[in-house]
Amino acid sequence: MSDHTERNSDSPEHTPRDFIRTIIAEDLESGKHKKLITRFPPEPNGYLHIGHAKSIVLNFGVARENGGITHLRFDDTNPVKESTEYTESIKEDVRWLGFDWGDRLHHASDYFDQLYAWAVHLIKEGKAYVDSLSAEEIREHRGTMTEPGKNSPYRKRSIEENLDLFERMRAGEFPDGAHVLRAKIDMAHPNISMRDPAIYRIRHISHHMSGDKWCIYPMYDFAHPLSDAIEKITHSLCTLEFENNRPLYNWFVENCPVPAVPRQIEFARLNLSFTIMSKRKLKLLVDDGHVDGWNDPRMPTLSGLRRRGYTPEAIRDFCERIGVAKRNSVVELAQLEFSLRDQLNREADRRMAVLNPLKVVITNYPEDQEEELDAVNNPENADAGSRKVPFSRELYLEREDFMEEPPKKFFRLAPGREVRLRYAYFITCTDVIKDENGEIVELHCTYDPATKGGDSPDGRKVKATLHWVSAKHAFDAEVRLYDHLFMNPDPEDVPEDKNFLHNLNPDSLNIIEHAKLEPSLSSSASGYRCQFERLGYFCVDSRYSEPGKPVFNRTVTLRDAWAKIQKQAK
Ligand code: ATP
Ligand code: MG
Repeated sequence: MSDHTERNSDSPEHTPRDFIRTIIAEDLESGKHKKLITRFPPEPNGYLHIGHAKSIVLNFGVARENGGITHLRFDDTNPVKESTEYTESIKEDVRWLGFDWGDRLHHASDYFDQLYAWAVHLIKEGKAYVDSLSAEEIREHRGTMTEPGKNSPYRKRSIEENLDLFERMRAGEFPDGAHVLRAKIDMAHPNISMRDPAIYRIRHISHHMSGDKWCIYPMYDFAHPLSDAIEKITHSLCTLEFENNRPLYNWFVENCPVPAVPRQIEFARLNLSFTIMSKRKLKLLVDDGHVDGWNDPRMPTLSGLRRRGYTPEAIRDFCERIGVAKRNSVVELAQLEFSLRDQLNREADRRMAVLNPLKVVITNYPEDQEEELDAVNNPENADAGSRKVPFSRELYLEREDFMEEPPKKFFRLAPGREVRLRYAYFITCTDVIKDENGEIVELHCTYDPATKGGDSPDGRKVKATLHWVSAKHAFDAEVRLYDHLFMNPDPEDVPEDKNFLHNLNPDSLNIIEHAKLEPSLSSSASGYRCQFERLGYFCVDSRYSEPGKPVFNRTVTLRDAWAKIQKQAK
């Protein structure tokens, strides 16, 4: 791709759609940068979630629009919490979202030699020192928002002594916690992150990339800005909580002989209602068995959303719609669902499935007769064609579609009432069969052969169209229905002595073991998506399905809560 392909966001006839794109357009226009370089810098300490998608879509999106490039860099400075399982899942998820970092895969750990050399540089300049206070004492010396900190007694160590101690820290002479290397900035600085932050600590632990080469590791705040500088990132886009760290990042970049100076721009992180978006907390859900792994279909992880049936297109669409801004806010989960429905409504084939079956016998339909009826695959897409669905004397309808004593607004099946069976016939309920406990076990109905295909030749109207399956032809399948993982729109809204687990929804998973599905679905492969008419969009589960035995996850219901909310707002 040349430097100028798709470079349209800065052309005069287009106003950039957010403040980040405006800054980037200006920097390219003024010639400050010839080529835009962004990066997505996850720490491999968990799986990516929908919040990361916002950052991925932004970083790869602005680069793509401006003929620039995007690096994928693992900020792997904390070997205690990081692993290759996480790096692999992150790569898979970024690719799945539709982005490609080409040969620009980097790791902060690739730069450990360089970072060490710059730490030595800072010592030689008198801008870093080895502190031998305990972690506890360092905390006590730090001061508070209102009080300045106090200098450590070790702050006056000579350059020679610091060089010697730092070298020996590296050589493994000291146990964890014995010393740290700190930047020498200002213990009275109003910004606490500038009060001589630690830049290296001792950790006798193997790293998933560098193995046992190191027993000292750079702190994230030191490694992150310098890694950006090494990679000549032009615009270092990050979330608002790093605004406080910007002076520190600038200090490191100014005081080390770096090849380039990135510009950091902060934007609001994505918060979603009913959703936890912290890897640490998501990991707790996994480790404590509240969910079935990182890719549980109720998780807001990209792998969970994928397994649930979300598409990369819908997630990208959602990220574009919410845009980027400077102010933190909470986005309605319904808005994410809106983007998904919007796509699936256009693209997903319709099928019939009955989740809570009630047997229906069509008493005037010949016992040995069967027929194949034409069913439209997708009314929104003429190219999707049609399929045959078998019809016979015994059917299943949804139990909720029948009421023996219907209230006024119930228009579906009831004794003596006529309704339409989708793509089939009009039927009228003649008898309700019950067991000895008074439970309804079966309905008897008659059908009108003149209404084949669901049209009445005499213009007779019915008020309901129901989905159904032929009892003889349907197959049993497990169907999993989901509700929000948390009961409270704000999962962190808990009594003082509780944590977010208090808000877990005990009914977030409802397994239907014996749903009745139309036969065309029996060979559906993992990842296959369709709409079950009137019930929602479903996707074949990648974990529990077996060949010929698909398990379906409900991806999302049909009800479009977001459209309703917007309508009400008008
Ligand atoms: P978490 O708190 O979930 O662990 P993090 O910020 O610690 O998130 P990183 O792996 O450091 O996770 O994040 C990689 C990138 O993704 C960072 O640039 C970060 O700003 C961005 N990011 C993380 N969470 C969100 C979010 N909710 N919205 C937008 N961007 C996010
Ligand atoms: Mg983090």
